[in-house]
Amino acid sequence: MTDLSTLPITRLKGVGDKFAQVLAKLHITTVQDLLFHLPMRYQDRTRITPIAALTPGLDAVIEGEVRAADVVFGRRRSLVVRLQDGSGTLSLRFFHFSAAQKNRFARGTRLRCFGEARRGSAGLELVHPETEILGADSPPAEDTLTPIYPLTEGVSQTRLRNLAQQALAILDGGAVTELLPAGLLPQSVRYPLAAALRYLHSPPAGADLAQLAEGQHPAQQRLALEELLAHHLSLLALRRDNDHLRAPALPGDPALERDFLGRLPFALTGAQQRVCAEIADDLAGSRPMMRLLQGDVGAGKTLVAAMAALRAIGSGTQVAVMAPTEILADQHRRNFTGWLEPLGVRVAWLTGSLRAAERRHQLAAIASGEAQLIVGTHALFQADVVFHHLGLVVIDEQHRFGVRQRLELREKGAGASGSVRVQPHQLIMTATPIPRTLAMSAFADLDCSVIDELPPGRQPIDTVAISNERRGEVVERVHNAVAQGRQAYWVCTLIEESETLQAQAAESTAEELAAALPNTRVALVHGRLKPDQKEQVMAAFKAGEVDLLVATTVIEVGVDVPNASLMIIENPERLGLAQLHQLRGRVGRGSVASYCVLLYGTPLSQGGRARLQALRQHSDGFAIAEEDLRLRGPGEILGTRQTGEIQHRVADLQRDAHLLPQIQRIAASPALTETARQQLIARWLQNKPRFAEA
Ligand code: ADP
Ligand code: MG
Repeated sequence: MTDLSTLPITRLKGVGDKFAQVLAKLHITTVQDLLFHLPMRYQDRTRITPIAALTPGLDAVIEGEVRAADVVFGRRRSLVVRLQDGSGTLSLRFFHFSAAQKNRFARGTRLRCFGEARRGSAGLELVHPETEILGADSPPAEDTLTPIYPLTEGVSQTRLRNLAQQALAILDGGAVTELLPAGLLPQSVRYPLAAALRYLHSPPAGADLAQLAEGQHPAQQRLALEELLAHHLSLLALRRDNDHLRAPALPGDPALERDFLGRLPFALTGAQQRVCAEIADDLAGSRPMMRLLQGDVGAGKTLVAAMAALRAIGSGTQVAVMAPTEILADQHRRNFTGWLEPLGVRVAWLTGSLRAAERRHQLAAIASGEAQLIVGTHALFQADVVFHHLGLVVIDEQHRFGVRQRLELREKGAGASGSVRVQPHQLIMTATPIPRTLAMSAFADLDCSVIDELPPGRQPIDTVAISNERRGEVVERVHNAVAQGRQAYWVCTLIEESETLQAQAAESTAEELAAALPNTRVALVHGRLKPDQKEQVMAAFKAGEVDLLVATTVIEVGVDVPNASLMIIENPERLGLAQLHQLRGRVGRGSVASYCVLLYGTPLSQGGRARLQALRQHSDGFAIAEEDLRLRGPGEILGTRQTGEIQHRVADLQRDAHLLPQIQRIAASPALTETARQQLIARWLQNKPRFAEA
């Protein structure tokens, strides 16, 4: 019996070295890889549909006789072929055609067509259907569903189908190794691996297309379970690798911490104390901490980070604090400087916008160890930044960073001590809570701490949704708030990714509001401003010299101005729930009653309405995160949809969340051998670097 995991793809007919290179782009190098390259969906070409029974919007195969073929001069020139079967007639419409094509459709020719029926001006029509002229020796309709595979340039569906058929022909019982002991599989997915692959590459006629489309067929569920398990195992392996690494043990300096806490105007909440203790415990050990810090907006994560930083500094090492934006990095610099400089800690600053001389100066302080805490953006981890003795890395607002970046950061601080690699500890803070199921799967390489309590005295935020037609009332509301000495945010959103357009929209809104509110000090902040301009505006707003801050979503994360108690979000229907919750969290930070006005555009889509409703109903970020997962799916929430970091073949984190407890159970079972674990990872992640997927 051939083991297909070692059988090169070039052994199949029609695959030469050149085509093999094209297939490699799809991560297909062996016959087994090909079998695990699964269809995204199917077409049913097994049945011939009578013309009279066609349903608009659905793909179908029809067979009939050509009655006429005419070039029609409408808005666009097109070739219209009238086709008749025993039940009725319909049109085939082609916008691009040659004389030869027209001549193919001579009256009386019998055709088989495949395409989607649409309503046209003269009844149902198929636009650009696939057509085939029927002769006496034409084969009957297909006897299996037609798979549609993910493609890359240089590969066609037909070619992949042909290869898959060849692979299935040599697939017998043991040619792909069954790696999961049957006893570990839940009853509902006890489906032999080879049978599942065979079924999914060529489902028999009559297979339930809807069930397949929903990914609910047991063969799909069987593979989804295995795929999710493979991803989970890869993260666990990553975590285990960590056990072989060393980090500086950071016992801290109790006097320094007492001093710090004594100067704070408030006491830590119970949750903050608990989480600080969890972190302190990790830091005291010599295994690198890899901890995710979760907490709702405003829960006080920054302070926890400061405590961790102090522990590292008190142990004589440096701390790097990395934020996703300059505004946020600047705010951290101010916070940390305010808290730590009175204790004698030297704070340095590194962002992409520093002038060369200043940058050199900061780099020197970092390299000599004179700078103890370094705040910055991604610029912190450029190649020319050399730390003297980095003990801890704090990453704020993690969900913008994927596993890949997580690993890069670790590498960055790494050095060697004898034969053992030494790495800094890592604390990762999320901007908003992540649903439990998602955290379990996407962050299985991390330990997790949760701040599940807000500081005392927080006022709940009253959230209302008002249509843009009542904009005047909302402006009046801003007027009243400012008259009472409060400050307000007005956030402009745009779907376009263009920062220029965003900035323009915010600019004109700021002008409009300044005209409508003559006694109000209006300022503007957006992504096109220079960093020092942004910084000035934010500082003025913080100092109460600005009443109304008009902003783009650059202020989304982290910004903290307790006197701001009114938040207007324009066109909130364009944003996701987590982002809205994060924005709304900019108010309600002080002790005055706070309001959030969702100023939506009409008409409101159903999805938009559902999100605004959810936001009005829930104030708890964890509940909102669950809702967001339900409404938008995991890729959006983890911010990995664009980067393609989560790309499963059969599994869908959201749809298959019910499998996650099983996956944890299986991963924990000693019945799953070490070899099987490695083979599962290799099979599904194809020996790509493990961190390619989260
Ligand atoms: P987030 O968790 O959203 O990052 P921050 O760290 O920005 O929240 O904290 C929000 C606000 O709460 C800040 O003004 C901070 O000073 C304040 N804060 C943090 N901890 C406490 C506490 N224990 N008691 C009172 N206020 C606190
Ligand atoms: Mg924060």
